[in-house]
Amino acid sequence: MTVLPGNALQREGLSSAQPLDAAASFKFHCHPGVPCFTDCCRELELALSPYDVLRLRKSLSLSANDFLERYAIIEFGPDDLYPKVYLTMIDDGRASCPFVDPSTGCRVYADRPSACRTYPVGRGVSLDEQGTLHEQFILLHEEHCHGFAEEQTQTIANWQDDQQSKEYNRFNDLLLPLLKPAADSQSLVRFSDEQATLYIDTLYNLDLFKKKYLPDYALSADDQPALLSHALNWLLLQWQPAS
Ligand code: SF4
Ligand code: SF4
Repeated sequence: MTVLPGNALQREGLSSAQPLDAAASFKFHCHPGVPCFTDCCRELELALSPYDVLRLRKSLSLSANDFLERYAIIEFGPDDLYPKVYLTMIDDGRASCPFVDPSTGCRVYADRPSACRTYPVGRGVSLDEQGTLHEQFILLHEEHCHGFAEEQTQTIANWQDDQQSKEYNRFNDLLLPLLKPAADSQSLVRFSDEQATLYIDTLYNLDLFKKKYLPDYALSADDQPALLSHALNWLLLQWQPAS
């Protein structure tokens, strides 16, 4: 199973992660009345996918460069296969998300990252040798989360609809051929430093990508998803000869 960046939410206190059948149901409901409201927006490592950044920038009306400078930490350590972009948390003793409001919740709710949408469902994807994408799911249960004590029954399908996560999944899945260049390969390939820089500059800094490679591409604010699609295809073409 390959877990893509947009599904990566890491936090201490994860008490269980159980495989979840695609048709299975589970009890869960999150709402402002739960005693743990917004607890999950603190002390977490929140990895952002390129589409997460695009949506957050839209919500905040920020250029790509300004968003990366103000809200992102880019890490590419010796054990990392590819660079990861994390949301910078606030130094308030609880490492809170910069967008959390204790009483009203998420200030960027309509454009919150995919990891915030999918919890408590974790989604992994893989490509088979024919290039067909396969999904697998797990149910994550954090100690502090009271959402499982609620009576509302969910299925993966209605949870994804409710959270409007399918567009996020669609864009995040497009990363898979970049992270795993050969469909029949069992393992991911570590990026070179040059690839890591190109990956970030192309997919996370769309303004830079457009300026360098598509200077004449007419673009309205609503065309950012189309620009990200261009960037993904462009990067894939750059790397195809090496795969
Ligand atoms: S983006 Fe919103 S939902 Fe996600 S951690 Fe921050 S405040 Fe919570
Ligand atoms: S119920 Fe779970 S997901 Fe909802 S606010 Fe509480 S900890 Fe977060």
